[in-house]
This record gives sequence, C-alpha cells and structure tokens, in this order.
Amino acid sequence: MRYHTIMKRIEQGGSRSIETMLIHGGNQIDERTGAVNVPIYQTSTYMQNGLGRNRGFEYSRTGNPTRKVLEDLIAELEGGVAGFAFASGMAAITTVLSLFRSGDRILISRNVYGGTYRVLDKVFSSFGIRYSILDSEDPESLERSIGDDVKAILLESPANPLMSVTDIRAFSEVAHRHGVKVIVDNTFMTPYLQRPLELGADIVVHSGTKYLGGHSDLVAGLAIVNDAETAERMAFLQNATGGILQPFDSFLLIRGIKTLSVRMDRHVQNAEAIARYLQSSEDVSRIHYPGIESDPGYAVNSRQAKNGGAMISFELTENHNLNRFFESLELVSLAESLGGVESLVCHPSSMTHASIPEDIRKAVGISERLIRLSPGIESVDDIIADLDNAMKRSRT
Ligand SMILES: *Cc1c(COP(=O)(O)O)cnc(C)c1O
Repeated sequence: MRYHTIMKRIEQGGSRSIETMLIHGGNQIDERTGAVNVPIYQTSTYMQNGLGRNRGFEYSRTGNPTRKVLEDLIAELEGGVAGFAFASGMAAITTVLSLFRSGDRILISRNVYGGTYRVLDKVFSSFGIRYSILDSEDPESLERSIGDDVKAILLESPANPLMSVTDIRAFSEVAHRHGVKVIVDNTFMTPYLQRPLELGADIVVHSGTKYLGGHSDLVAGLAIVNDAETAERMAFLQNATGGILQPFDSFLLIRGIKTLSVRMDRHVQNAEAIARYLQSSEDVSRIHYPGIESDPGYAVNSRQAKNGGAMISFELTENHNLNRFFESLELVSLAESLGGVESLVCHPSSMTHASIPEDIRKAVGISERLIRLSPGIESVDDIIADLDNAMKRSRT
C-alpha cells in the first residue's frame, strides 16, 4: 500500500519547496548502486521468493519501480496521498471516470478539453454515466445544477481554449456541501503554478504530454487523489483496465519534471511579453490570458495560482486571412498540443475542439477566428517578430 510511504514522506519532509521537490521528490536515488537517476526497469515480471512472497513487485501492469518513482513524485508535488501514471492524459481521465457507475452524472466545465467531452459523450454515455455542462464561471450556478444523481464536477482552470478561470475553492465548497467530488484537470498550470488539492479538490488529472514532459517527445497521463479509499480504488482500476505508462516513458516524464520550474518561469515570462504585444497590436481584436489585469479571470486566478500560466488565445481582426497567417509563420509551428519548449499555435475550431459540435462551439465562444498560442522558451523577441510578420502578411 504505497500511499502509506508517501504519507510518511509528506509528514517528514513537507516543508521542502516545490523547486527542490521537482528534482528530489519520489526518492529517485537507486538504493543498490547509488545512481542519482532511477533506472529504467524494462521488465514485465519479477522473480518471487516463494509462494505469496514477492519483493514489492509482481507484474509491471500492477507496478513497476520506474513508474512508482514518478507516481510518488507527482503525489508529492500535488500534495496528494497517491499518484498514478497512465499511457496518456485521456487514459488517466478515463480511469478516473471509471470510479463512477451507471446512473451517476458528472458536471463538466464549459470549455473542458475536447477529448474529455468526447469520452463522456461517446463512450461513458453508453455505460449510463451522464454529463451536463455547467456555467463554470459562476459558483451559484452549481448549487442549482446539483441533483441527486450528480456525483462529481470536472473543472479546468484556466480552461482551453478561452483561458476561462474557475474559482476552484468556491466550487469545491459548494460541491462538498452536496457530497460531490471535485476533479481538476491541472494540465495548463502544473503543480508548480497551482495545486488544486490545497484549494479543496479531491482528484487532480494531468496530461503529462504537455508542460510536465515539456519537450513534445512523450504522451503520458497522471492522476492524483487525496484519500486512501480512492487511492485503493484507483490502484485497482489502473491494474484492472491496464492503461499504464511504460518504464521508458516514466523515465522521460521524471526527467522532464526536474526542469519544470525553470522552463515554466521562462514560458510565463514569454507569455506575459507576448500578451502585452498582442494587446497593443492593431491586428488583434481579442485576447484571452488570465495573467493580464484586463482579463475577466485575473482576480480569481491570482488568488489560486502563482501567475497566469503561459497559454494565450487571441482573435485576429476581420481583415486577416487566417490560413495565410498560419502559413506565414516560420518559427512558430502549427500543431496540436502545447507546453513544449518550442512555440506552437493551433486553430481550436478545426483542430483541438473539432470534436465539439459547431453549435456548442459557437455557444461557448470558440470562434473561427480564434488562435491558441503556446509560447515556447525561445527568445521572446524572435517569437514576437514571427507573429508580427505573419500578421502583416495575412492582412487582406
Ligand atoms: C492534452 C490534454 C488532455 C489529454 O491528454 P493526452 O495526453 O493528449 O491524452 C487532457 N486535458 C488537457 C487540458 C489537455 O491539454
């Protein structure tokens, strides 16, 4: 029961700062050789000493030493009781949603990740798990939406792609009054900038593919829970359904997490400079970024997160040809995903959010003109020059 060891470690070393935990969390030193990095235990099975006597591992779907270091590390970083690593963010989310049963209803925020919406709408619905969309900026609306069948709310803050901010603490208070669990997808912020469990959430999920991995070379997912009973059930589900992260990918994710604080500081610094540039540009009609004071989410975000994170979305004015804008970019790549060291842009309505029906997209404000930018850690002057050039060339 691995969460006991984690609880012990939190009690003993809970005062360490997050920058240190990113590098030393999860007990990464190899006991046998003293190697400062955990070995990649590329093994499916483990020799047992006798019947019913193993050395802590039996079979790598159930547990693997490399994956365990990652799972302990992310549990420490989020301040949870146990962490679980999966083959993708969607595998992590699917396993968390498998905690619920037929007849249960999950409330999701309006701008939830497209894949989360899709798995609820197209997969869990056929098993009788229903969902409703909640007006996530208003905690009062939650009070009205909670019926007897509601068992969880699933939030993202800031939420993709309009960077809308949800008051995690206020929502958790209302949810807990009704015995409803709070799940937060913390992919955009990472535990370095925001720790939802400290704000009252019960479960945190991540796409490790993004900032935690940080180099666009890995697909991975994580889930963190803060009570022993849910930890037990997650361990059961992880083993039973089997969407685990492999040893090599676990190693890559541990490696990525070590540099999270310096990368994230630079991502945010670049995002802030780019946001100021976009705000002053006559080519831009709207900008969504909770790190600037004019953003409607600024006040709440500043209360619950270290800063506004690094994701920005914006709309070009009508007199731009969007296709020409994307084709004119030379440094910034047009691609799905985010959070890597290289700058990426995407067109949410035809890419990341294409699985959301057009009428819903329109209703939540994802226009055809919306562009999402994930600033990398290149020179911010080069990124801005590239955006500036593409905007000028795409004027009609
Ligand atoms: C990418 C992403 C996911 C899905 O993660 P994968 O690793 O692509 O499966 C979930 N939530 C958010 C917010 C994401 O950005």
